Amino acid sequence: MHKLAKLDHAHVWHPFTQMRDWLRREPIVITSGRGAVLRDVHGKEYLDANASIWTNLHGHRHPKINAAITRQLKKIAHSSALGFANEPASLLAGRLVQMANRQSPIANLSDAQRRQKNWKLAIGNCKLERVFFSDDGSTALEVALKLAYEFTRRTRGPNAKPRFLSLDGAYHGDTIGAVSLGHVDLFHKAYGGMLFKTDKAMSPYCYRCPFNRAKPEREDARKYRKCNWECVSLVEKKFAAQKKKGNPFAAFVFEPLMQGAAGMIPQPSGWLEQTTDIARAHGALLIADEVMTGFGRTGISCRVTRDTLENAVARPASTALFATGRAGIRPDFLCLAKGLTGGYLPMAATLTTQKIFDAFLGTYEEFKTFFHGHSFTGNQLGAAAGLASLDILQTKQSVRQRALLQKQLHDELQSLWSLPHVGDIRQVGLVAGIELVKDWRTREPFALRERAGIRVCEAMARRGVLTRPVGNVIVLMPPYCTTKAQLQKMVAALAEGVSELT
Ligand code: PMP
Repeated sequence: MHKLAKLDHAHVWHPFTQMRDWLRREPIVITSGRGAVLRDVHGKEYLDANASIWTNLHGHRHPKINAAITRQLKKIAHSSALGFANEPASLLAGRLVQMANRQSPIANLSDAQRRQKNWKLAIGNCKLERVFFSDDGSTALEVALKLAYEFTRRTRGPNAKPRFLSLDGAYHGDTIGAVSLGHVDLFHKAYGGMLFKTDKAMSPYCYRCPFNRAKPEREDARKYRKCNWECVSLVEKKFAAQKKKGNPFAAFVFEPLMQGAAGMIPQPSGWLEQTTDIARAHGALLIADEVMTGFGRTGISCRVTRDTLENAVARPASTALFATGRAGIRPDFLCLAKGLTGGYLPMAATLTTQKIFDAFLGTYEEFKTFFHGHSFTGNQLGAAAGLASLDILQTKQSVRQRALLQKQLHDELQSLWSLPHVGDIRQVGLVAGIELVKDWRTREPFALRERAGIRVCEAMARRGVLTRPVGNVIVLMPPYCTTKAQLQKMVAALAEGVSELT
């Protein structure tokens, strides 16, 4: 075993990992990367098929991001945001605000058109103007949670007990506030005693929805579902019931367009618009967790107006980088991390409105200050990487490349329908979840202890493709620089891995 692997075995405790299994075999020790390729200590190369746990956007060792960090290093790596401003963080905040308020064409609809679509409330006039920096996805959510909590108490009165509604299967991070918002029993049950109570609403998991009367087909379940939007009615009921108790939900927390760690669960077109509208109508704030979906992950074309790929490519300026923007939703909080720095450095941001910000203004002795912050808030290296990443994202070349990759991903995935263990293939933009089942005709799931997802990913790794499953769902989230040949290799490895299941 390589000496670095031995050291790892001796001392490192890995996240979300059964360490007994880990210690049974030599780990892959990554030493370098370039583009979509990772290289280990033995010189073996792998494709980074989940973009290093959903963080990497433009590939590893991107010359522009490397240069931006190097330039920043020559000035300063870090100074505190407690008491001082700094150059790249100020610039990045400005850019994020600009990008976050850039909406799909739906935002330009007339009031009459909005009313006709019944989407007026969630679109609203909520401009994101303030940026609170932190370190990772979990802390981005903690910030939103605390701000929403305190804002609600300040507007409803100090005795208010703000309650939050999130989605079934939700995962918003591992800190206690974020875990409280989560609804993944496997991860969260053990900590029940440490958490505060939140409520959960049905998530629109069309493939396994009890209200979907359609028989399985060889297509994304959203496309052939037969239902009457019972999931939306249930969300409405939750809001109504909570209102009846005299304590309407303070905030609705959701991942827009696709829930990630819940199992890559995409929302059928119209779900987000309807539920956020209901939330608004019941006076709830909207907290959008775009830790996974942000920075172009959910794709290029405009879902709401059904722009063609070609149009999106022709008009890169109208390309919303966030899922909320694509759907024309304006949240009160937009939580960003992972791709914020192009996947280079741990940095996060919580964007919010002037209204929320104003509720924390007062004289010093009123102590309305937001008493929250981290040592590395607004870190210069991370901010420099973030600025370079946004520059890349906005180039015509990047837009074209992403549009093409999205199309190629769709085309390549089609071959997987021939595999009886593939139950559902769910693609949203540049993310895909492939749900494994015992037999597609029955949708019978593999028991978790059968480790179907893990086994497929192990088989893929043997073929030089790295990704991690979410339960029985295999995730493909290629870096945006992935070539067609690399994508074909990822999908071929997945197909071979699935074939090994029987
Ligand atoms: N929210 C979402 C949607 C996520 O996918 C994740 C991480 N997978 C988080 C929050 C937590 O982010 P982090 O791991 O950076 O704390």
